Amino acid sequence: MPEDGKKLALDQDAFIAGLAQIVGSDNVSRDPASLTLASADIWAPGKGSLLAVVYPGSLDQLSRVVAAISAAGLPIAPRGAGMSYTGGYVPMVQDTVSLDLSRMNRILEIRPEDMTVTVEAGCSWSALLAALAPLGLRTPFWGPMSGLVSTIGGGLSQLNAMLGGGRYGTSSESVIALSMVLADGRILRTGARGKGGNAPFYRHFGPDLAGLFCGDAGIFGIKGEITLRLIRAPAHEDYASFSFKTGEALLRAMAEFSRAGVACEMCAFDPGLTKVRLARASLAGDVKTVGAVIKRQKSWLRGLIEAAKMARGGRSFVEEDEYPLHVICEGRSAAGVAADMATARRIAATEGGVEIENTIAKVIRAVPFPPLNSVLGPAGERWAPVHGLVPLSQAPAIFAELQNFFAARADLFAKAGVSTGYLFTGVSTNALIIEPVFYWPEQRFAVHEVAIEPAHLAKLPTIAANPAATAIVAAARAEVIRIFAGHGCSFYQIGRTYPYMESRDAATGELLEAVKSVVDPAGIFNPGGLGLAAAKNPVHQT
Ligand SMILES: Cc1cc2nc3c(=O)[nH]c(=O)nc-3n(C[C@H](O)[C@H](O)[C@H](O)COP(=O)(O)OP(=O)(O)OC[C@H]3O[C@@H](n4cnc5c(N)ncnc54)[C@H](O)[C@@H]3O)c2cc1C
Repeated sequence: MPEDGKKLALDQDAFIAGLAQIVGSDNVSRDPASLTLASADIWAPGKGSLLAVVYPGSLDQLSRVVAAISAAGLPIAPRGAGMSYTGGYVPMVQDTVSLDLSRMNRILEIRPEDMTVTVEAGCSWSALLAALAPLGLRTPFWGPMSGLVSTIGGGLSQLNAMLGGGRYGTSSESVIALSMVLADGRILRTGARGKGGNAPFYRHFGPDLAGLFCGDAGIFGIKGEITLRLIRAPAHEDYASFSFKTGEALLRAMAEFSRAGVACEMCAFDPGLTKVRLARASLAGDVKTVGAVIKRQKSWLRGLIEAAKMARGGRSFVEEDEYPLHVICEGRSAAGVAADMATARRIAATEGGVEIENTIAKVIRAVPFPPLNSVLGPAGERWAPVHGLVPLSQAPAIFAELQNFFAARADLFAKAGVSTGYLFTGVSTNALIIEPVFYWPEQRFAVHEVAIEPAHLAKLPTIAANPAATAIVAAARAEVIRIFAGHGCSFYQIGRTYPYMESRDAATGELLEAVKSVVDPAGIFNPGGLGLAAAKNPVHQT
């Protein structure tokens, strides 16, 4: 905080007026509701404060806004849909300006002839899919489960797993080019961009600069426009679900699925998470979901058969103490998909996997971007996942260590009302994600209320503040991260939560500091993100 509070107040008015000149007065907000919403992510509030929220509407406005905030020496916290939980976009110093990308949500150009699509960074994954589907096109990685609202810019800044991830890897692996706004407002454009520079068509042209900005936690610049690679939407898909007796058997099977490259998506749960999912299932949700599954089938007869199977199977087709795995294969030909499915069945059987009703696998494809009601638990309790990307061969051993850790805390968790579960998925042919999940009684934030459908929110009880339970979860989360880090695991969503700089060699650290000193010399972008920038903002350090 500057020493002279009065001077700051005077400067603030002129500063806000300057921003309003760029974006229009409706697009600069200091109202308490906007500030509160952007001050806490799904995990916790930031330790600093917001001065204003600014909503630029184009790359040009974004560049001018960043230059103006930079000239005022204030920190900037870029925000997509705010669906993260690692302290990435919350204010950690006083007088931070939240840069909300939600108005920059346009799909700028689809070029089927070049197999590229260019979007503004605030475009959601669901909007992109909706625009591409009628053209028979798709991006290779096509979104996280939060993609109904979560943005492509947010997804590239912290990397994503899930839809398409099993075959095509993380979100950044679909990137062709980025238009980055640096701290002084300059625009840096990556990739080979065709004549005139406006038709990015290929990522690699010298060193891979796009890669530098992917997974950067928003500390190297603001993503303004993004060009992604396209594929033809696969004409065929098939679904299977298997149930495994132990987590270790499940993870051995998932590792072999990855090596074989058969699954475009795979998603598994432990018994704890299965219980939560069953508790959440509401009749209204089921009716909508059945409709979506029917619509996706290729004939009405097939659709009716699926509806009948779902009605018969209900939600009771997973044994309560087992580990269900849901797998989706896709491809250009029915024969290719059938061959992948046959391989999947063979692998599952090798680990004792028993085939079960494949409804959930179908639902993943039919409703890939469900409403964000799962930002809270089924009884309104808080929810927080934590994860590690683990080597295929190590997954069972790391899982066993995590299980031991949770078993040792079972009494503590039970007394505090903390419940846990796991989600598992795969990324390309060479990594699995193990994601422990916590639920605990604690009050919700504005970001939860905005994300959840009003009708669902109305059914949830409000829960009082419970710092004691949160402290237990925070300590357990930190310990889980320590276990992953001890195995040399990688992390997405590094934000201000996962260790990064401490595991890098000295030369890497120096290179990243050097890059930072060029793109953001005063350290105004997300200070402290990636564990890199905290010391770079002498005026505004807390
Ligand atoms: C119900 C639910 C399901 C989820 N499922 C998945 C899943 O399947 N897979 C998965 O990977 N994650 C998942 N997530 C986590 C999260 O939603 C994703 O990581 C998502 O990519 C966040 O995008 P966002 O637009 O909300 O980003 P935000 O939360 O707004 O921001 C994330 C980070 O990126 C930075 N940032 C945002 N936009 C920009 C920009 N334009 N330029 C520079 N920096 C920027 C922010 O400062 C912050 O550090 C889920 C979350 C929820 C709540």
